[in-house]
Amino acid sequence: MSIATSVERELRASVAAEIATPAAAYLHDETEARGLLGRADAVALPRTAEEVAEVVAWCYAHGVPVVPRGGGTGYAAGAVPIDGGVVLALERLDRVRSFEPLLWRMHVEAGLRTSEVRRIARESGLLFPPDPGAAEQSQIGGNIATNAGGPHAYKYGVTGAWVTGLEVVVAPGELVRFGGPLTKDVAGYDLKRLMIGSEGTLGVITAAWLRLTPAPEAAWPVIGFFDGARVGCAAIERVVGSGLPAATIEYLDGETMRYAGATFPGEVPAGAFGVLAEADGSRDEAAGIRRELLEVLGEDALALYAPETAAEIAALWRWRDGLSVVIGAQRGGKAGEDIAVPLDRLAEAIEESLEIGRRLGLPACSWGHAGNGNLHTTFLLAAGDERELALAAKASEQLFELALRLGGTISGEHGVGFVKHNWLERQLGPRAYELHAAVKRAFDPENLLNPGKKA
Ligand SMILES: Cc1cc2nc3c(=O)[nH]c(=O)nc-3n(C[C@H](O)[C@H](O)[C@H](O)COP(=O)(O)OP(=O)(O)OC[C@H]3O[C@@H](n4cnc5c(N)ncnc54)[C@H](O)[C@@H]3O)c2cc1C
Repeated sequence: MSIATSVERELRASVAAEIATPAAAYLHDETEARGLLGRADAVALPRTAEEVAEVVAWCYAHGVPVVPRGGGTGYAAGAVPIDGGVVLALERLDRVRSFEPLLWRMHVEAGLRTSEVRRIARESGLLFPPDPGAAEQSQIGGNIATNAGGPHAYKYGVTGAWVTGLEVVVAPGELVRFGGPLTKDVAGYDLKRLMIGSEGTLGVITAAWLRLTPAPEAAWPVIGFFDGARVGCAAIERVVGSGLPAATIEYLDGETMRYAGATFPGEVPAGAFGVLAEADGSRDEAAGIRRELLEVLGEDALALYAPETAAEIAALWRWRDGLSVVIGAQRGGKAGEDIAVPLDRLAEAIEESLEIGRRLGLPACSWGHAGNGNLHTTFLLAAGDERELALAAKASEQLFELALRLGGTISGEHGVGFVKHNWLERQLGPRAYELHAAVKRAFDPENLLNPGKKA
């Protein structure tokens, strides 16, 4: 039987929210596979924004760190309580406060799952476009706090592009509102934008006003296979340069195709580099874009695959969405990053990132959101092998160096969290980093909101 900490006992006696003894489920995120497990004094499970404010106020008054937690699907250990404190789990704040389909907007609480937001919109013929891969578990608050991307960010932008307002608990425990159901608002500094992607280090998001758009009538993916990363990336640049409004442009390198090719719902030329693009819009528009995509990709593709039926299209996306699991299953473990580079450096970045694996003796493969220059180079690890885990940490450092050398970023979508926080200053440079730190101090003078993350 675990013994309640004094924080757990005192917090329970002081606030309305349910306070639980930290169960293992609240102490990790997706970085658990890389050996990261946190430690907390208590878990708070508020049901309302006011209860969130009360917990933050208690923590601020008692000098106790607060770690906001969404669905725990992050890859940067942002939700992992590294050094004790209170895990503030948002899962019970899951109400839809209002949904106005004719005004294309929704007001939801932070703990609502991403897949629910998308489902509710879809049922009224609308689309909430951000589609990060773990939508069944991730929460809209977690997506906003990481400014999550996903395949369709190429055409539709990342999560922040769809947020018009936020309700946030800020230090030392006050509920405030930045923006609202507004599509224009230039009054004051854009504090809403500062909150988006702040990874729980500036405040706790309790609700969001989201913008929606009519769902496209048709969405047709096509995939071209090329002789290596250079030829594949040249095809990606051709698609971008053609001005075709592709909804997504993804890449899958030859090694990824070697691991995942067996389950691909079509023929794959051996060792080929895949480029997946999607045409969407009205049926006529989508048909036209699809035709042109096939032409542009077909110039020097080894093969093309263009599914037509709903079942074939669903099978292709199911395959793409399952990649991470298939790759992880190859050796029992994996570690990957999410660096992003300018589009014209993508081929170099892919090749050099795979070379890092070769140098360190780790099998590697690479796939990602090509249109945004966002790589998910992944190292395949033997489950539970400490030596390989240590090598993977080295490989990540070399990936960050590579990103900075090519004029890119250490994180295109997963965030900085705990795992990359030592790198931020190097990316930003001294003066920008000083301003970054000053923003943190302005919002969190006692450094109690998710300390040790991001900043
Ligand atoms: C299979 C798989 C595929 C993925 N694909 C993608 C992808 O395509 N694109 C992408 O961007 N990411 C992807 N991810 C990563 C992850 O799903 C996203 O980062 C997601 O946005 C995290 O949401 P979450 O609710 O799980 O947040 P958590 O992991 O719980 O938290 C993430 C960060 O946000 C903070 N936070 C959470 N909720 C709040 C809140 N209400 N207020 C303030 N701070 C908060 C936490 O403190 C932490 O710093 C993938 C993950 C998996 C497992």
